[in-house]
Formats: sequence, C-alpha cells, structure tokens
Amino acid sequence: MIPYGRQSVDQADIDAVLAVLQSDWLTQGPTIDAFEQAVAARCEAAFGVAVCNATAALHIACLAAGLGPGDWLWTSPNTFLASANCGRYCGADVDFVDIDPQTWNLDVEALAGKLQVAQAMGRLPKVVVAVAFSGQSCDMRQLAELAERYAFTVIEDASHAVGARYAGRPVGCGEFAAMTVFSFHPVKIITSAEGGMVLTNRPELADRLRRLRSHGMTRDPQQMSEASHGPWYYQQVELGFNYRMTDLQAALGLSQLKKLDGFVQRRQYLAARYQQLLQDLPLTLPKAQADAQSAWHLYVVRLQLDGLQRSHRQVFEGLREAGIGVNLHYIPVHLQPYYQALGFAQGDFPEAEHYYAEAISLPIYPGLSDSEQDYVVQQVRRWIQEPSIS
Ligand SMILES: *Cc1c(COP(=O)(O)O)cnc(C)c1O
Repeated sequence: MIPYGRQSVDQADIDAVLAVLQSDWLTQGPTIDAFEQAVAARCEAAFGVAVCNATAALHIACLAAGLGPGDWLWTSPNTFLASANCGRYCGADVDFVDIDPQTWNLDVEALAGKLQVAQAMGRLPKVVVAVAFSGQSCDMRQLAELAERYAFTVIEDASHAVGARYAGRPVGCGEFAAMTVFSFHPVKIITSAEGGMVLTNRPELADRLRRLRSHGMTRDPQQMSEASHGPWYYQQVELGFNYRMTDLQAALGLSQLKKLDGFVQRRQYLAARYQQLLQDLPLTLPKAQADAQSAWHLYVVRLQLDGLQRSHRQVFEGLREAGIGVNLHYIPVHLQPYYQALGFAQGDFPEAEHYYAEAISLPIYPGLSDSEQDYVVQQVRRWIQEPSIS
C-alpha cells in the first residue's frame, strides 16, 4: 500500500536518538532546549515551547490566551478535531467559520461578517484558531487586522505548515499570530514520533506556556507567594499538566529539522507534478492562497461529480483496492456526534460539507518516488474516467 503520508527517517536520525538514549538525560535535558531554539531560529520566532503533541500545544496556547468558561473559540470546520477540542478543554464554547471554496481554508471574509454579527450580540470570540490547511496559511494579513479590531487572539494551527512561508517569512515568525502551533506526528512535515511546539515572540506567553507544560510549577522567586524555603523549593501557582516532550523525541526532531528544506522541496516538486499530470481530468485541484507558500502536508483533489459515472466513495474505494492509501481530510468537525450534541447540525457550514462530499487526499511525502506517483495518477485516471471496470 502506498500511504497518503509517511515519515522519512535515516541513519542520522537513528544515531541522534541513540546518542541521547546513552546520555544522562532522557527527558528534561539539554536536547529539548536545543530543539526549541533551533525551531524558533528557523522560523524567526523568539521562543519555542516543546510539548508532547500538538493537541497539548493547542490546549496550553488557549489557556495562555486566557480562554476559559464563558468564552468563545472559533475555528475552521475543515480541520482535525484538536483545533476545536482545545477550546472545550478550557471550558469555552466552540463555533466555526465556513471555508473558502477556493482554498479550503477558513474564509476570512466570512469571518469578518460573522464578527460583526457577534459584536452586536456581545459574543465575540476570545481566540480564533486559524488552521493552515494542507500546509498553506489562510489570509493571515486580514485575520490579524480583524484580531486588532475585535480584540481576539490568533493562534495559528500550523500542524501542516512546518517549513511553509507566508508574506515572505517563515510560518511561525509571529508577524500575524500571537502563537503558532506545530505538530511533529510522523505524517506531518518533520517528526519527533509524537511531539508539538508553540512558537511565540512574547516572553510572558512563553513563560506561561512552560509553566502549564509542567504542572503549573515555578522555580522563579518572582512568581512565588513567599520567599524561597531553599534550593529545593518550587511552587505550584496554577493548575498545569505533564505535557513534556522527552529528549529522545527532541533528538529525533532536531535531526529531522536539518532536512526540513529538502523535505518541503520534494513535497513542492510532487505537488507541482500532480498539478501537471492531473490537469486534464474532471478534478478541482488545490489553489494557492495569496501570499502563501505551502509546505504541502496534504495534496487534496475534489471530484467534479457532475461529469463522473462514479460516486466519490467508489473512486475512493477503487483507489484503496489499487493499493493506494488515499484518505479524506477532513470530515467537517461540526458533523461529529460530540459537536452535534452541542447543537451543530448538517447544513451549518455548507462549503465544508460540499468539500467533504468531493475531497480525496492523494499520497504525498518525501519518500514517494516519481514512478509511485505515476502509478497513483494512472489509477486516479482509471477510476474516474473508465465507466465500468471491476
Ligand atoms: C495533526 C494535527 C493536530 C494534532 O497533532 P498531534 O501532534 O497529533 O496532537 C492538530 N491540528 C491539526 C490541523 C493537525 O493536522
């Protein structure tokens, strides 16, 4: 089976992990700091806070933004569950903004309209989680203007977009978002097995994130309610978690980071090749968002079902039978039973639902060879063009 995505791990990665395994620090050691600093430097951010996964990163980013009960978090319905769930972890209410039919990202025009209505109702969001769907940022420039006008915090969920660029700078630089979250899950751009990071330029946020990552503990006398009892002393000043990354994971991440440019280049090459090889088919291919240079975590096509003899599901299953691990990103989050129980219903976000009825993620990852990609293209052609095979 050719998967839709997979990690590329080489001997240098293995050696890096083994070196840490034989060192004094399996966790809470110097490799964490090195990884945080390297990612922050690469992305032109002041601070990086490494955590056990991007879901945890989103959770503590929301807490650091002050999100709590009675507040609203808004995000795109076309995302992984975690972009919305992080609001629920904080006791906040979650709402969605429909997607742009061209870029499949959160529609910032629609957001502007929804904010006006929300203002009139006194229900403005405290946090907007802007998902860089498939690896390209949404209209962050306009989003930042709206954040200014309506006083909400922008958290960019850039789980797909490590190594991507926006407005000529690396995603994560913090020009348009207070905090940016990365995932290092194996299907993402670089991996630490499990892992995530929050990038920010604001020292008070970085401080708070570090504290929340580790039980709400501090060893900083300035944050304590009384004088230190001695060198052993720490205080728990709020409720935090154990969301730490291990040094083994950080070693893998650090080693992978060295290959980031090559990984993204290979993904861009494969995406450009798909655009070329699929252009004559009844498919809607991904379109570039103005200002964004995608990291191409996903390569999604939409079937133009009017012109096809087959259903979306038949094409999907046909490709799976042909040994191609196609996938579907994403089932609109508001259609999940958990969110339906909160009051969302079919029809609430029609662009995301329409997208869901047509989308298929084709394989894209650095190790995908040209000939494997040719096979994928040949099978896509077969399953959408030939009226009755099988
Ligand atoms: C993968 C992903 C996450 C969660 O990442 P984990 O590291 O697995 O917790 C969050 N948001 C988006 C958009 C993702 O794709």
